[in-house]
Amino acid sequence: MTSILQAFYSTRSSLNWRSLGLVSALLLSACGGGPRDQTLEFFALGTEVSVSLYAVNERQAEDASEQLQSYFTRVGHDWYPWNPGELRAINIAIELQEPADVSPRLAAIIRRAAQIERLSNNRFNAGLGHLTERWGLHMLGDEPPSKPNINEVAKLLAQALGVTSIRWIDDRIVGAPSGLMLDLGGIAKGAILEDSVQILQSLDIENAIVNIGGDLTVIGDVNGRPASIGIRSPTEETPFATIDVAAGETIVTSGDYERFVEIDGARYSHILNPRTGYPVEHTSAVTVIHTDAMLADAAATALMVGGPAEFDQLASALEVEFALLIDASGDLRLTPAMDLRLKWLD
Ligand code: ADP
Ligand code: MG
Repeated sequence: MTSILQAFYSTRSSLNWRSLGLVSALLLSACGGGPRDQTLEFFALGTEVSVSLYAVNERQAEDASEQLQSYFTRVGHDWYPWNPGELRAINIAIELQEPADVSPRLAAIIRRAAQIERLSNNRFNAGLGHLTERWGLHMLGDEPPSKPNINEVAKLLAQALGVTSIRWIDDRIVGAPSGLMLDLGGIAKGAILEDSVQILQSLDIENAIVNIGGDLTVIGDVNGRPASIGIRSPTEETPFATIDVAAGETIVTSGDYERFVEIDGARYSHILNPRTGYPVEHTSAVTVIHTDAMLADAAATALMVGGPAEFDQLASALEVEFALLIDASGDLRLTPAMDLRLKWLD
């Protein structure tokens, strides 16, 4: 893929989940000529995608590989604002104050983003593309980014408002602030995990793990056992705990240590606080487990913004039962249910 795609949603690249806070413990075990375990690996959306299929036949594995890769290539263009494709066309229409027809799936994702914006009291905001660009967080600029001054940030923020301000007639956007630029980087991976599950299930694959750079969804189980996922702090190589992720659950980690920009020697996180327009500093990682993959993805981003101060209140507003936050000084916050579920390692 091109270098543009490498900056898509994440720069986890070859470091993927190992350096992301999640270690996936998957083993391949071939068993004769019948169904067997297979792993598909490919690079998409700027990260490594690994799909583990359990007890599948050759045909299922081949179909899965073909369909998933073509799906990932398509959404890599259509759902990424800095590639030519549907989302870019929508953003251009918004800027020109023209109506925009949106495909049903993308419309559903944008509406879900608006819903989570409301529930999170604007900690999650998928309309800040212009600020992301100005901070250089999309990592596509020719020049190293310069720090925007306070007035510039305030102006971009005032013009953006939020995804909740979009007016729809069916799946057509008929009104939106001209400064709003949709950037679905905080929720698209959840939608992509959901769609990947659908693709695999349509091929009668009953047991699988779809892993996009460390964010993963479990279908069924791993040869009769739950998927055991390691969790580590951003500063350590080895996990401090593991957790069993059940069938239908998604585990997502959002962090400031994999993806950031450097401006005048200072590091800035790729997650912006929608109320200030400035990158988040107080939190280094959040992990969420949920059966709703889009919510898991967006909630991890929202909890990064809310930080330790808003952790309990925000987790409950978003109906997230299982969440863990590591703040900038390395201190841990857990929801009670997450605390019960983690298996601590020595
Ligand atoms: P990752 O890319 O590490 O999976 P996230 O899921 O948290 O992390 O998504 C971060 C991306 O979401 C950013 O790169 C940007 O595109 C977008 N984003 C940044 N800040 C916010 C925010 N407050 N709300 C929603 N999306 C955001
Ligand atoms: Mg997210």
